[in-house]
Amino acid sequence: MEIVRPEHNWFHNHLVKQPIQNFPYRPSNFIVRRDVDNGILLYNSVTGCLLFFESEDEINSNLSVLIEYWFYLPSNSFNECDWVDFLRNKRINYVSKQGINSYVIMTTLDCNARCFYCYEKGVPHITMNSKIATSICDFIKRHSTDTIKLTWFGGEPLINSSVIDLICQRLTEYGGSFFSTIITNGLLLTSETIGIAIKKWNLKRVQITLDGTEKIYLRTKSYIDSNGNEFQIVLDNIDCLLRSEIAVTIRLNQDKHNTDDLLTLVDILHSRFGYSRHLKIYNHLLFNFDGEYTQEQIDDFYKLGNKLNALGYESNHNLPYGMIIHQCMADSDQSLVITPSGQIGKCEHFTDDKMVGSIFSDELDLSTINMWKEKYDTTEECYSCPLYPTCIRLKKCPNQKIRCTDFYRKNRLDSINMAMENYYKKWKSKDKSIT
Ligand code: SF4
Ligand code: SF4
Repeated sequence: MEIVRPEHNWFHNHLVKQPIQNFPYRPSNFIVRRDVDNGILLYNSVTGCLLFFESEDEINSNLSVLIEYWFYLPSNSFNECDWVDFLRNKRINYVSKQGINSYVIMTTLDCNARCFYCYEKGVPHITMNSKIATSICDFIKRHSTDTIKLTWFGGEPLINSSVIDLICQRLTEYGGSFFSTIITNGLLLTSETIGIAIKKWNLKRVQITLDGTEKIYLRTKSYIDSNGNEFQIVLDNIDCLLRSEIAVTIRLNQDKHNTDDLLTLVDILHSRFGYSRHLKIYNHLLFNFDGEYTQEQIDDFYKLGNKLNALGYESNHNLPYGMIIHQCMADSDQSLVITPSGQIGKCEHFTDDKMVGSIFSDELDLSTINMWKEKYDTTEECYSCPLYPTCIRLKKCPNQKIRCTDFYRKNRLDSINMAMENYYKKWKSKDKSIT
């Protein structure tokens, strides 16, 4: 037996080894098992620990270790969901002392593209001014002490890059520690901007959406004042980011009609960028996991995902480090969204409604904050679902429905399986990029 990845540090420090008693034991429901060519991987989705065994016999001869590391649990009277909820609350209390450490800052709701699927359609195109930007820095100074993560978002955040400069400059003057990520269409991320972003914004990761090969991309994005070169410019900008060793995540928006085109796009991306440990590419089905996909859409989703995996682009997806404590910024006390007018919200999809405060006041509306944390009830299926520790379903999330679907479960389980194998391969080859 080998420990491929030990448990998450928090469990290492807060969860004692399970004492072995004179009980019958059974495998935990929250283990994912994956057969690899030369053995068996077991992943504990509570603690994040990943173990390798050469054979079934080796598993059976290591039961005491499996009990100690919480892979086996008492057969009777052990409610695993309650146990996970208990640990989650304990961890939430632990991190609550850290204050706010993540801000999504919407520099503008304006955009240089007009995608048909944009959820900000019809929203007034407000742009942040320097007074708001300065007040954001003051708010951050009052509420954060540790290193903070700034995510620049919009609209298209780079239309108003001057407030990014201003906020970063002021935070630097305050002596604050921060790094940035950005969600952008990438058009304005030229080599000159990348230089500034590295130096002044401490930019570490960029997410760019591509909707198809050149013709389809240009039609979907429908750039204002297009000169027809935008697709090539975005690829050049991605190239520059990768050469600057900034992590790039390309999201491929997949709808009912564009799978063949996206398969061609993946070939184009592969011949242009090859494999890079800084590049992740994933496909995202538009209109979300609402259980209304046809079998054909699901098949297309896997066809594209399998191709990305075969080329190694999905291998850069991380194996979850065990149990999660929140689904996203909406239910995290460590994260806030700030709109261009200085309103404070919890979800980037809500810039006007269900807001929780303003940067001009230190009072946050606790009842709305708690409303964002409301979860769907645990169902019978959850009790035996290995995803439970990494599954939080928020009632207010526009992307989640009252019941999870077979597709949702299979997709998430497949990605954990893939991440386990990829993690194992990197561990075996002593690749230092694994976390
Ligand atoms: S994926 Fe579905 S069954 Fe599994 S824990 Fe989440 S809600 Fe429950
Ligand atoms: S859309 Fe859902 S997942 Fe995204 S921030 Fe809002 S609540 Fe969270």
